[in-house]
Amino acid sequence: MSVPSSDFKVIIAGGSVAGLTLANALEKAGVDYVLLEKRDIAPEMGFALLILPCTTIVHDQLGVSQGYLPPAIPFNIREHFDGNGGLVSSTNEGALIGEKGNRPLIMIERSRYLRALRDGVSDQTKLRAREGIVSYEEGPHGVTVTTDKGNRIEGSILVGADGIHSAIRGMLHPEVDTTKQFETTFRVLIGTSFNHDVDNKEKLLMKEGSTNHTLHPGVGGLACASIPGKIFWAMYVPLEKTPLPAGGKRSYSEADIEEVMAQCGAVHCCAESTFADLYRSRTATIMVPLEEGVVSLPWSSASGRVALVGDAVHKTTATLGLGGNAAVDGVCYLMNGLVPLLKRTADAARQPTSEELAHVMRAYERQQRPRAAYAVNASYYATRFETLHSWWAYAVKWVYGLLPTSMKVRVFSDFNGSAPVFDFLPHPDAVEGKKEQ
Ligand SMILES: Cc1cc2nc3c(=O)[nH]c(=O)nc-3n(C[C@H](O)[C@H](O)[C@H](O)COP(=O)(O)OP(=O)(O)OC[C@H]3O[C@@H](n4cnc5c(N)ncnc54)[C@H](O)[C@@H]3O)c2cc1C
Repeated sequence: MSVPSSDFKVIIAGGSVAGLTLANALEKAGVDYVLLEKRDIAPEMGFALLILPCTTIVHDQLGVSQGYLPPAIPFNIREHFDGNGGLVSSTNEGALIGEKGNRPLIMIERSRYLRALRDGVSDQTKLRAREGIVSYEEGPHGVTVTTDKGNRIEGSILVGADGIHSAIRGMLHPEVDTTKQFETTFRVLIGTSFNHDVDNKEKLLMKEGSTNHTLHPGVGGLACASIPGKIFWAMYVPLEKTPLPAGGKRSYSEADIEEVMAQCGAVHCCAESTFADLYRSRTATIMVPLEEGVVSLPWSSASGRVALVGDAVHKTTATLGLGGNAAVDGVCYLMNGLVPLLKRTADAARQPTSEELAHVMRAYERQQRPRAAYAVNASYYATRFETLHSWWAYAVKWVYGLLPTSMKVRVFSDFNGSAPVFDFLPHPDAVEGKKEQ
């Protein structure tokens, strides 16, 4: 469906998961937009994202998923180990989710994913890299942004898809320190490694296709051999000081990483290998704080001309890999309100009013807020379970291997099964005559 939107124009701040998904959706809906990204779009950063079938369905609707699906190995088996490499639990959760969603559950390079979203946009002139938004002014009929290059751009609405350190969020709520909307208890050390021993290329560190979690006091871990020859891994470590002091570190140095590896490197990521083995075969590592929370302040301005999506308003820990998937859901809800409004007003040969836009923004927030809270809460408990952060985590670990797979898979299957799609585009399975969701 295409909306003849004449003068309506969306300004997007941020060219990552949420911003690029929105750009593709606006293009498909025939709505004018410009995307401003303060850094490069789809930079070559070697880290990974878990993509649920519900997200691939939405990207199928946009025609971009074929750009990122191969060559991921479907993540079928999920195993939990203790820190000594003892097997705690083994399930086929990934296969079950994949079967239900008609698509594999995959873990792929973030850069590959973002490249597919970027390249899916037909009119590349709409994507402006290395130009960030530094301020905006709202008027009765639109919004004007000023960029760090001194350009002023006018639009009908501004969508802040500018991540956890969102500048737009700060400008929307100047009276409060919006960073206090998030709690930070953990850091995450993320790495990408070759899937072979550093001294013996014939010896695999992990079985290809396997996805493992580690349960260990004070350090939880994830390791996925989900791309031929590569392992993506993460270690969750409590902060040195909690809560993170105001203006605290946004990323850590090589020396900080070395310190964590010295303390926790001997912890196993599977029966045979340790995180130190992965570290020795690394191609890249980074350590960042793990913020978590859902912004309790309104997600849009009273006039409906400025709204926030993605990590700018909800941030999960990385343990379950739900954050980017949730960002895509938010874009769906926003578009599902905006497109019918633009169609109605275009038919009436007029622009939407601020009241109408505010109504759409509030409806988007009402739908996305509980979904975001679910993702944040589930990830909160998963991180504390894997790091054996409290007495209850030890109790759960004790019985975890005995719990039925149907119970363990609930978090993913509930989240995946209740995800929105774009209402204004055909469901890809319906088009292809496959089984409906
Ligand atoms: C270690 C780790 C592992 C993760 N693993 C997963 C996973 O497996 N699966 C998953 O779904 N999610 C995962 N996530 C979460 C996922 O990365 C985020 O939820 C997702 O990237 C959010 O997308 P976003 O577009 O909202 O924000 P971001 O990806 O943070 O993008 C914001 C963009 O806005 C730009 N920007 C900032 N300020 C401005 C400005 N003023 N003007 C213009 N541009 C601006 C930034 O440069 C950036 O490109 C993980 C996160 C971490 C930290």
